[in-house]
Amino acid sequence: MAPATPQKTSSPKVNVIRVNDLTEAVEGAFSTTVAALKQLVGIPGIAWPSFDPRELERSAEAVAELVRAAGIDDVRIIRSNREDGTPGGPAVIGRRPSREGKPTILLYAHHDVQPPGDSALWYSAPFAAHERDGRLYGRGAADDKAGVLAHLAAYSAAAKVIGDEFGLGVTFFFEGEEEAGSPTFRRFLDENRELLRADVIVVADSSNWKVGVPALTTSLRGVIDGTFEVRVLEHAVHSGMYGGPILDAPTLLARLIATLHDDAGNVAIANLVQRDEIALDLSEEDYRADASVLDGVRLAGQGSLASRLWTKPALSIIGIDVPAVDLASNTLIPAARAKFSMRLAPGQDPEAAMEAVREHLESHASFGARVTFHPGEKGCSFSTDTSSPAARIALWALGESWGVTPVEMGIGGSIPFISDLIDAYPDVQILVTGVEDPDSRAHSANESLDIKDFQHAIVAEALMLAGLNAQGLEDHAEPA
Ligand SMILES: [Zn+2]
Repeated sequence: MAPATPQKTSSPKVNVIRVNDLTEAVEGAFSTTVAALKQLVGIPGIAWPSFDPRELERSAEAVAELVRAAGIDDVRIIRSNREDGTPGGPAVIGRRPSREGKPTILLYAHHDVQPPGDSALWYSAPFAAHERDGRLYGRGAADDKAGVLAHLAAYSAAAKVIGDEFGLGVTFFFEGEEEAGSPTFRRFLDENRELLRADVIVVADSSNWKVGVPALTTSLRGVIDGTFEVRVLEHAVHSGMYGGPILDAPTLLARLIATLHDDAGNVAIANLVQRDEIALDLSEEDYRADASVLDGVRLAGQGSLASRLWTKPALSIIGIDVPAVDLASNTLIPAARAKFSMRLAPGQDPEAAMEAVREHLESHASFGARVTFHPGEKGCSFSTDTSSPAARIALWALGESWGVTPVEMGIGGSIPFISDLIDAYPDVQILVTGVEDPDSRAHSANESLDIKDFQHAIVAEALMLAGLNAQGLEDHAEPA
């Protein structure tokens, strides 16, 4: 996989950014940064209702302490209520106001983590950080406690090196319920709009291209889900007495599901946004290996792999309700239900996509079976303008830190709250960065972080802060 796409990565004021001093400052503090990350990994702060909420509070307290230790005085732990009145996850906010008319940058990461899953699949305990072969293993080691520490360490280095000249406003926003679907995010933004107002937002919750090659995430797919039921009988009947002239609901559900893709494996639903991504392509071999595709299984869909992953819709069936095999009896099943999840191309309106799915399902049931459709969650896609001043500084900083040209990449996944940020602050420049790499296995067993790349990510962000502090957000078309 060769990183392509040449970048405009030169910085207008590179001579005043003190790259070496910032790099050394990050290096000098790096063992402390890693120790703090290990400490955070030891706290199983999970925002799902079935887990002990005290651990999530403990996680927020520990993060707040780290923000104070970075020299921020205004630190608070706040939360908004869910619709049912129960409190949402604790967010940690730390602020340092801007001086001399400099812009404000909001640094986002989340301190809550995914549940550990089956602990038998982990080589080392999920909540005890473990270093092996240059990687740090543990739940949250990458997603996204490393994001929390990257922001804090980058800020500390920048504040130390730039000293009195550092007038950039900095707001840390460490969410405490991202892995639970950010249920109170929108309300939280509404209730804290002035507190969180910024000119640039860095969302450190994505991935780099691969170990040793940085990336700026320039597009994310949206996502929708929903359920549909196929019904043919009012109640179950004996398959010997009645079977033959009636196709059972699981069979008809399977036939309906089969219409969702064409024979080449493209999503067959009409009127969905999609485009071919030609700037950059991925290696099919790497993709197959990363996804553990079995030998002989052919990949689905047409167009480049990057298009199929980033700029075209993708639909999966993620659950089916039919009788379990062990409970099966000789009856014609009257109804069966499935849940779909669909990733949307950047630019696709989720509402329109939901209607397109409904329309398809309602018009494609065979044998006149009744289809009932229930729309579920919706999340918007994202794409960024890489010619914006903030994006150009970020691309320069990534290249400078890693010493290789950064990749502008799409991500097939979704970060739905980004559209909430854009709604709240329409003029804001959003940068999606991250500390992960394709082998980080966020959400899975043996989640890990490449420690060297973690350091590169911190240096890059320190350079980004220094760059923004030095040149603000004016558009310097011509690099000096
Ligand atoms: Zn995350």
